[in-house]
Parts: sequence; structure tokens; C-alpha cells
Amino acid sequence: MIPLTREQVPATADVVLVGAGINGLATAYELAQLGMKNIVVLEKTYIGSGSTGRCGGGIRQQWTTEENIRLAQESVRMYENMSAELGYQVFFRQGGYLMVTENENDLPALRDAVALQQRCDVPTDFLQPQECLEIVPDLDISRIKGATFCPRDGTAYPFAVVWGYARACHRKGVKIYIGTTVTDLKTTEGRITAVETDRGTIQTPLVVNCAGPWARSLAAGIGVELPNRQERHEIMVSESLKPFLDPMVISISNGIYFSQSMRGEIVGGIGDSDEPRLPGPSRFKTHSGMRFAVRFAQALLSYYPRAAEVRMMRQWAGMYDVTPDHRPILGGVDGLDGYFHSCGFSGHGFMLGPMTGKRMARFITTGRRDEIIESLSLERFSRGDIQADAFVVG
Ligand SMILES: Cc1cc2nc3c(=O)[nH]c(=O)nc-3n(C[C@H](O)[C@H](O)[C@H](O)COP(=O)(O)OP(=O)(O)OC[C@H]3O[C@@H](n4cnc5c(N)ncnc54)[C@H](O)[C@@H]3O)c2cc1C
Repeated sequence: MIPLTREQVPATADVVLVGAGINGLATAYELAQLGMKNIVVLEKTYIGSGSTGRCGGGIRQQWTTEENIRLAQESVRMYENMSAELGYQVFFRQGGYLMVTENENDLPALRDAVALQQRCDVPTDFLQPQECLEIVPDLDISRIKGATFCPRDGTAYPFAVVWGYARACHRKGVKIYIGTTVTDLKTTEGRITAVETDRGTIQTPLVVNCAGPWARSLAAGIGVELPNRQERHEIMVSESLKPFLDPMVISISNGIYFSQSMRGEIVGGIGDSDEPRLPGPSRFKTHSGMRFAVRFAQALLSYYPRAAEVRMMRQWAGMYDVTPDHRPILGGVDGLDGYFHSCGFSGHGFMLGPMTGKRMARFITTGRRDEIIESLSLERFSRGDIQADAFVVG
């Protein structure tokens, strides 16, 4: 049972976090671990209702920028202990990630990525197509030109992760208010002073914007311009099957990813570069479409023909909060004391969330930006310091 409250919000808090997805809850938990008191998390609907509860649960360390590798690597260490630490089973399973390409031209970049990951102590190897069959025996390798594999990548159950963090937060005295929308942030003379909600106002000197796809509009209300855009992404789950697939398989050629959950379902999605980008409030629409179902089924069968008899049970959509370089935006804003954000995670906020929460909590309590928060600051865009990660899939 996760203790939640829809009561009137308190008049004051030492810190308010907006959003009960993985980032809001992990940061709240880590702030409490560091001894902070009177922590309040505000969530407009329910825990995990944003991108987190709609995600594929994939956790990989195979990235091409050092920040993403480090955040994912440190998060994997946390996922390895998460069930014990939070006192809640999060179903983390390390079946590895097999990343394939159909394009010879990608091979040098894949080899470079393996070298960088190995320098960071991530045990990724480059594989010839034939070697993929040792990992996924029925994979159709006829178009695959090369692959990389990291056995320590894996998946976890997204709802269990947020429920686990929520329970651990509660044990530490953090108050989580669901059904509570933040309508405005208040500032006076360059400082955060309060958070207004549809259930009352909270006076607070610190706000952490973990509102996922809604982070941009929340920040805009106090004049902070985030370059994030929102993208709808669809995903599906099949009927349950006997265990046959250990790793997550992803293709950097067509953007498909699929794995088998511990309940036996195939869970997977595919990116769609032709997806129309809707303007205004329509950009938050999370409808499901036949186009996705067909594209996903075709791509799945092209790599895994034995899935032909499998029935899709359900499909749904969620939002990516995408930045120009597909890397998150962390930290604060010069000239606005007490305001922090942790957003822009594109399709990889679930895997980076635990360590991001730890680093953000350290930053908020000490005021010292570590090298990763520095590198992922909002100012990087005005400095022109953009290093896009090459392998953004989904
Ligand atoms: C289909 C799909 C598949 C994905 N697969 C993966 C994957 O395999 N691995 C991975 O790492 N990532 C994946 N992602 C991305 C991942 O889900 C996100 O990056 C991550 O969940 C972001 O977490 P968050 O806590 O920052 O945001 P969210 O989970 O979106 O949480 C933000 C919360 O803020 C609340 N909120 C917003 N505005 C307000 C307000 N004004 N007042 C109160 N509350 C508010 C929202 O209701 C929401 O619950 C996927 C995403 C999608 C859509």
C-alpha cells in the first residue's frame, strides 16, 4: 500500500518537487537521504502517470557520450541494489542489450562507442552477425552487418520502480500529493518564493521542476525558456509466452526495440520520424494508431520471424521530452535562486533517473555542480556546446 494524500497542501515546505515520475521521486528520495526535511512532491494525476508509467523499462549503458554512459552506468549499479534499498521488488533483470545495425557505415561508430564504453568500464563487445545468434538464436541476421552487446544492461518494471521510490519517500517523511496540479511558480526579486496549486499555495524557497513533457510550460511561466519539444511515441505488449528472449534487441537502423518481460510478454516500440508534430495542447495527445501496429509488426518480423503467430494484446503511447541534443537538462538557472530542473530525457529518462536524482540532490543541498550537471546545464545551448548522442533509438 503506497501512502498518498489528496489533502489540502501544507502552507510551507523546504522544497517542492513537481512531478511524481522517476525523476521527481528519485530526487525527493535522495534529498531525504541527505537529511533534508519538509519535502513535498506534487503530482497532477497519479504516480507514474507521465512518461515513466508508459515507458519500455529499458536500461542500457551503450551510449556515445560520456555523460549518458556514466549516468546509465551509475544508475545500473543502483538498479542492481534497488529492490533491497527501497524494500520493494522492482523486477530488474540483466539480460543485456543487443544493438544491431543493417548499415556498414555505422560500424566505425559502433566500434568507437564500444571503445568509449570500455574506457568507462562498461563491458560492451562488438559482435559479428553470426555471433548474435549465440545471444538470440532465432534472430534473422540476413541484413545485420554488425552489433554490440553489453550483458549488464537490462530492464525493470517502471511502475514498481516509482511505487518503490514512493514508499521509501514516505518512510523518510516525504509527503506526496496526487491529484494536485501546480498552476504557477512564484518569484520575488530573482528568488523562488511559492508554488501555487489547485489545492492551495505552498511557500517554499526551493522548487525542482521534474514535470517531464510538461516541464517546458511550467518553466515558461517564470521566464525560463527550455528548448524541449514533446514527441508522441507508441509501444505495445503481446500475449505472454514461455521465456525465449534474454536481451533487449534494438536496431539503430529502423529504431525498433523489443524485449521479453518477466511475465513473458514481448514489449516493444519503434520510432517514427514521419510522426506529425502537433502544435499547442495537441502535442500532448497520446492516442494509439494502426500505423504504429503495422510498422512495429513488420519490423519485428524482419528480425524475429518466429513472432508471426504472436498476438498483440495492447498498445499505448506516451511523450518523449526531447532536447536538441537528446541529452537531459539538469541544474538551475543563473539569476533565479531556488529554481532547479531535471527534464529533457528524450527516450532514456527511466535508465538515467536513479543517478540523476542522486546528483541533483547533491547539487541542491550543496550548491556545487558536479561535472555531469555542469555539462548538462541549460547554458550549454547558448554556449553552443552540443554533443548529440549518436544512438538515440525508439
Ligand atoms: C513509449 C515510451 C517508451 C520509453 N522507453 C524508455 C525506456 O525503455 N528506457 C528509458 O530509460 N526511458 C524510456 N522512455 C522515456 C522515459 O519514460 C522518460 O524519459 C522518463 O520516464 C521521464 O521521467 P520524468 O520523471 O522526468 O517524467 P514523467 O514520468 O513524465 O513525470 C512527470 C510527472 O509530472 C507530472 N506533472 C506535470 N506537470 C505537472 C503540474 N503542473 N503539476 C503537477 N504535476 C505535474 C506529470 O503528471 C507526470 O507524472 C520511454 C518513453 C516512452 C513514451
